[in-house]
Amino acid sequence: MSSSVGFPSLDALIDATDAHAHGVKVVMATDLLALAVLKPPGELGADIVVGSAQRFGVPMGYGGPHAAFLATSQEYKRMMPGRIIGVSMDSTGKPALRMAMQTREQHIRRDKATSNICTAQALLANMAAMYAVYHGPEGLKAIADRVHGLAGTFALGLKKLGTVTVQELPFFDTVKVNCDDAQAIADAAYKNEMNLRILDSNTVTVSFDETTTLEDVDKLFNVFACGKPVTFSAESLAPEVHSAIPSGLVRESPYLTHQIFNSYHTEHELLRYLHRLQAKDLSLCHSMIPLGSCTMKLNATVEMMPVTWPSFSDIHPFAPLEQTQGYQEMFNNLGELLCTITGFDSMSLQPNAGAAGEYAGLMVIRAYHIARGDSHRNVCIIPVSAHGTNPASAAMCGMKIVPVGTDAKGNINIEELRKAAEAHKDNLSALMVTYPSTHGVYEEGIDEICKIIHDNGGQVYMDGANMNAQVGLTSPGSIGADVCHLNLHKTFCIPHGGGGPGMGPIGVKKHLAPFLPSHPVVATGGIPAPEEAQPLGTISAAPWGSALILPISYSYIAMMGSKGLTCFKDSHPECKLYGETVRESLSYSFPRC
Ligand SMILES: *Cc1c(COP(=O)(O)O)cnc(C)c1O
Repeated sequence: MSSSVGFPSLDALIDATDAHAHGVKVVMATDLLALAVLKPPGELGADIVVGSAQRFGVPMGYGGPHAAFLATSQEYKRMMPGRIIGVSMDSTGKPALRMAMQTREQHIRRDKATSNICTAQALLANMAAMYAVYHGPEGLKAIADRVHGLAGTFALGLKKLGTVTVQELPFFDTVKVNCDDAQAIADAAYKNEMNLRILDSNTVTVSFDETTTLEDVDKLFNVFACGKPVTFSAESLAPEVHSAIPSGLVRESPYLTHQIFNSYHTEHELLRYLHRLQAKDLSLCHSMIPLGSCTMKLNATVEMMPVTWPSFSDIHPFAPLEQTQGYQEMFNNLGELLCTITGFDSMSLQPNAGAAGEYAGLMVIRAYHIARGDSHRNVCIIPVSAHGTNPASAAMCGMKIVPVGTDAKGNINIEELRKAAEAHKDNLSALMVTYPSTHGVYEEGIDEICKIIHDNGGQVYMDGANMNAQVGLTSPGSIGADVCHLNLHKTFCIPHGGGGPGMGPIGVKKHLAPFLPSHPVVATGGIPAPEEAQPLGTISAAPWGSALILPISYSYIAMMGSKGLTCFKDSHPECKLYGETVRESLSYSFPRC
């Protein structure tokens, strides 16, 4: 989302360098477009830099999906999560790309991993990268200069009007304005189809981006004039506008010097480049995609189309709720459908992927124990057959992990589990169990497993990433789990985009519903909302995570209906997967279908 970029004073920056002298590390949050004109954090001495790449051509989408970035100096690169690609030489002496650091992945390091992230934002990172490839360093600088110029024109116009006070702060794209009645100004802007941010009763901020026009700035002048005639236009002011960036913070170093960012600046050249890259991939155009446990589906074109509709894609995550009624209706319907499918009472659409759902679900369990005065419950039992994200997520939540073995067939060793649960019964927080397991096994003792955990004071977290094997046949709720996540990018048709985006909503039983995550700007919580909320806090930057891709899962469920979703049963009528809890048919039907 277009961020507000304010500058710390130059003194503060000198202090940041001072931080090193005192052994303190410096993390800077930044905006990529601003860095086309600003001295980069690395040159200011930051150790780590973070931010969002949304600005680089990715729609707001009511909050996501967007790629974030994390960069660090050489010194810390071995502590980075994920994989790092290095340049090497192949056997013929040509430069080749090589995976330089693979072992950081949670699959290999499990509870020692530095991150639990598995599905990330690969597709969005590629979109942002291609935006930079297409525009190149000069194009980006032109866009940044224009955005800064629009903000500067706005600030200059307000000074001429004299009805409000522009705060004398350096800015890139966001101008802070003092006024008598912030709400009245915001209301007037609203009537002109513009949303302003109200900071407090006397302050608003106005942000500009690539899509803003001079006409938009004229409209803003009329709003801020409060009825006074405006005797100038944004265009007429433009020649008088000067940079508001302090000279010490102006960027002088070159960037994006690699030839990739300096080669494809026309549409047909970019198209050919993208096509060459695409031709190297094995995709559904050539064959089935040989991926294992991910129960991924065909991504039908009709499911994908709504993602491009402006009424879904062009909405700011903090837009007033009355402007997002369609989204709200979809969240409610989808949440209730997923509750029916999972046998749970409430669903949170905030987590951005399966692993984020695991983290959120474990934090829900933690909040539940704390609310009951059991804050000491921090032991998490995890079978060795679990997906690597399970121990990594439990470690992120500060839990103590107790592994439990499996037998030759891959089933959980129930006696070992019983012993572990009893030995830790005073501090048992949760079991994380994948069902069916990563080996593809439907644990026959699953209800006994759930009972053992409950009898010893723990909660059952079911990893529902492979929900396709349960939909319509059984459900985590009916098996006895208390919380589970779904991977909408595996079971419910969101394309996996070479590693992401995804959505990992979590479903919970009634007793856990009050603890589902909320958001400090837009109150959220479970769907349907529980009676009394005691939210654990916030899991994602946006209130409903990567909202823009939810229409994909919603339309998939709509088109399949309850019979279609239970496809496995129709094609394997003899299969008795789960004894008596196999449902004859799902009791839900889709609204309006
Ligand atoms: C894919 C998967 C996860 C992790 O989900 P992400 O969306 O990649 O974070 C967790 N558990 C299992 C069993 C999975 O298959």
